[in-house]
Formats: sequence, structure tokens, C-alpha cells
Amino acid sequence: MSNPNPAAGSKQVALTGSIDERTNFQTLIGETGKSLVLDLSAITRVNSSGIRSWKQYFDGLNKAGVDLLFTKASPPIVEQIAIFKNFLCGGRLDSMFVPFLCTKCDKNSEVLFTVEQLKQINFQIKEIKCKFCAGKAEFDDDPDLYFNFLKG
Ligand SMILES: [Zn+2]
Repeated sequence: MSNPNPAAGSKQVALTGSIDERTNFQTLIGETGKSLVLDLSAITRVNSSGIRSWKQYFDGLNKAGVDLLFTKASPPIVEQIAIFKNFLCGGRLDSMFVPFLCTKCDKNSEVLFTVEQLKQINFQIKEIKCKFCAGKAEFDDDPDLYFNFLKG
């Protein structure tokens, strides 16, 4: 059991692996307090049962007045946020990973952007140097879909 600093206030939890029918948010997160920060960087997969329990759990927290901040969203979770209206259940997202695919060696890599940075570049993701072969890596998703929820 951690000893939360009342001045800092927020409880921080990292969600990892697959979000599916076995995911029990209540057990994973426990007591939330008034404000909750969720690190989504290690979520690898989300299926339809996972989406249902996510919505049910975080909608409940939102209704109970818990302040939700989602951070470092991995591509599998960004895809859900992009598709499902109000997937963040009234919470905010401050940063997310952007997927790249190398045109030379075909390897995937991910780069973390803050939402602020993405807005500043108007969601125009430039190619990067592949970290494996130094070849050209390009944004590897549908830009209209991937960033749409941030543009509203
Ligand atoms: Zn490469």
C-alpha cells in the first residue's frame, strides 16, 4: 500500500498488457481518491469485452466526480479512443504514442508526443529516422482516424 502525498493528490496507476474479459479495473486500481492518473503506455491489446468494462468502470468514476488524466496512450488504446465516442469518459489525455513503420527494414517504432506538440504541428507527422537501420520511417496509421478525436 502506497502512502499518497495529500499535496500531490493524484493516485497514479499503470495499466499493462491486454484489456479484455479478464481485466478487473476495480481490482487493478483500487481506491481512487479524487483524482487518478493512468499510464497507458504498456497496453498491448484491447478487445470488445475490454472496451465494455473500460467504459463501465471509467464512466462510473467520472460520474462519481473523480478527475481522470490519461497519459502516454499506446497505439492500441489510441485506436479505441479514436473510434469510440467518449472513450475517455470525461477524462483528459495529455500524451500518446505515434506509430512509425520503416520503409527500409519494415520494423515498427513508436514515438511519444504530447497532445500540445501534436496540435502545434497541426497533426502533420513528418518521417523520422528509423532507430534500427537509420532508414526512413513513416507514420503508420490513418491520420484522419488517428488524430480525429483531438481536432474537435
Ligand atoms: Zn529501419
